[in-house]
Amino acid sequence: IVHWTPFFQTYKKQRYPWVQLAGHQGNFRPGPKPGTILKKLCPQEQACFQLLMRDVLRPYVPEYLGALELRSEEQPPAKVEAAVEASQTATDNHNNNNNNNNNNNNNSNINGPTGCKDSYLQLQDLLADFNEPCVMDCKVGVRTYLESELAKAKERPKLRKDMYEKMVQVDPTAPSDEERQLQGVTKPRYMVWRETISSTATLGFRVEGIKLAKAGSSKDFKTTRTRQQVMDAIRRFVEGYPHAAGKYLQRLQAIRATLRASSFFAGHEVVGSSLLFVHDARAAGVWMIDFAKTLPLPEHLERIRHDAVWQVGNHEDGYLIGVNNLIDIFKEIVGD
Ligand code: ATP
Ligand code: MG
Ligand code: MG
Repeated sequence: IVHWTPFFQTYKKQRYPWVQLAGHQGNFRPGPKPGTILKKLCPQEQACFQLLMRDVLRPYVPEYLGALELRSEEQPPAKVEAAVEASQTATDNHNNNNNNNNNNNNNSNINGPTGCKDSYLQLQDLLADFNEPCVMDCKVGVRTYLESELAKAKERPKLRKDMYEKMVQVDPTAPSDEERQLQGVTKPRYMVWRETISSTATLGFRVEGIKLAKAGSSKDFKTTRTRQQVMDAIRRFVEGYPHAAGKYLQRLQAIRATLRASSFFAGHEVVGSSLLFVHDARAAGVWMIDFAKTLPLPEHLERIRHDAVWQVGNHEDGYLIGVNNLIDIFKEIVGD
């Protein structure tokens, strides 16, 4: 099944301000074709989309229309409205934005010197078919860093005062006595801890951002951690849209069944990827997005389970733990 944005979009004025709930604002541009967006090309993510277009998961990811290289002056005018900018803090620079060759591809040269070239993935705009959509980004998995990123952080573990301070700001009781004495924590310690302040470590997903049709957006979910807190946030997200929770539940169940049959999923470690939830008064859909940190398994591993406990070296990502918990939560909301 090919999921494709209907061509009639061509004749409609863009009715919606485009909403971006995560990532750097400069990573996205409006696409040259109606119903498409451009995301800064990261080769890892491109490789995933190429495989996904031939996988059973295809109906559950944005359609990939190939790569595009644009000179700066050829780029469409910047009309993208980023609802929320980079949702991660400056020291969280182990995130995948590093993979996006951002160095000279950032906002500053979009209108910059002529002759600059940027590469983009051309993707289906998942918002294009909706009227005044509500959007939620849930980052899936029990960790949001790669094993290689943790290993790198462990190479020369310096004491970090900045990370210690961030930790204390969120939870004054988090540092150990020793860390308190030293007024510092190591980066790997911080990385592991950070996943425990949201629901990532326990529920296998976290809410990254929510945009309601008739209200501003919020990325204020960094410490939304308990099942009850997460459920309340999701309840507010679907409030006033009685059809939405049931449709989300069905779609999530279809995604889970398809994940189990997918050879792409079996053979990849899916880290930092999100489920994007979109609904309006009429329709609701969920798609898998953001594959910049989705990697083929190392050769000695044929497949991972995605619902097993992560131990350093086993590459388990906990993706299905997150999907299962989301399904349970939506079941409870539908049952109300
Ligand atoms: P990060 O790694 O910080 O999560 P990123 O730069 O890798 O960010 P994505 O996660 O792919 O970017 O996307 C960021 C946001 O942009 C999403 O939360 C969503 O709001 C929007 N978005 C991404 N892809 C699409 C799409 N195909 N259609 C509509 N909206 C999208
Ligand atoms: Mg990303
Ligand atoms: Mg993302």
